[in-house]
Amino acid sequence: MVLVMFGAPGVGKGSQASILSRTLTIPHISTGDLLRENVAKGTELGNKAKGYMDSGALVPDDITIGLFQERIRRDDCKNGFILDGFPRTLSQAEYLDAMLKAESIPIDAVVNISLDDEAIVARLCGRRVCPACNEVYHILYNKPSKDGVCDKCGGDLIQRVDDSEATIRNRLKVYHAQTQSLLAYYRSTRNVVDVASQEEITDTTKQMFGLLNLEYKG
Ligand code: AMP
Repeated sequence: MVLVMFGAPGVGKGSQASILSRTLTIPHISTGDLLRENVAKGTELGNKAKGYMDSGALVPDDITIGLFQERIRRDDCKNGFILDGFPRTLSQAEYLDAMLKAESIPIDAVVNISLDDEAIVARLCGRRVCPACNEVYHILYNKPSKDGVCDKCGGDLIQRVDDSEATIRNRLKVYHAQTQSLLAYYRSTRNVVDVASQEEITDTTKQMFGLLNLEYKG
């Protein structure tokens, strides 16, 4: 199965992709996570990407597409994958289409998650992430069992550099200017499933599973 998670930063694409990944046992591929791994390791690619990411701008297509290309070729993607944060530009979407067409792989659904901008700002300011395993938490809505510690791997939770209010607002501006228009492209060519992001993650998950005809086991 191939799913594309779509929506503004902070709508919960990553959390829902991670739940889908566990249910469907296919990898969750987040270009944001791949880029952050490169930044943390100080690779050449990471050093090139860091400035764009810290300001909330998009990383140039040649870097992002190259990284995506390398990840998608790995064996664990043979039975499908869930894309989170890719594609974000028309060139990336066209690259993905050409790649999938060449392998005769369909996109089963584009999951479009929506939430208004002010709710996103409030949500992202409270987001905490585990840099070791990429699990995502929220200080109000999705707390870890122990404050500041990842339930999954025991890592110390951090606030992302780009989760400050000014950068969040810039990321939303970038989304509306450069990414949102892709939705029209997908609506004309693919099965788009519209999900309204709820305060409780599980409510969003139940809605999404219903629309994708997947059994929700809780
Ligand atoms: P995310 O974790 O998806 O919110 O991505 C964090 C940041 O990584 C974004 O604000 C961009 O700077 C960069 N990024 C992630 N995915 C892409 C992409 N597909 N194209 C361009 N930049 C990206």
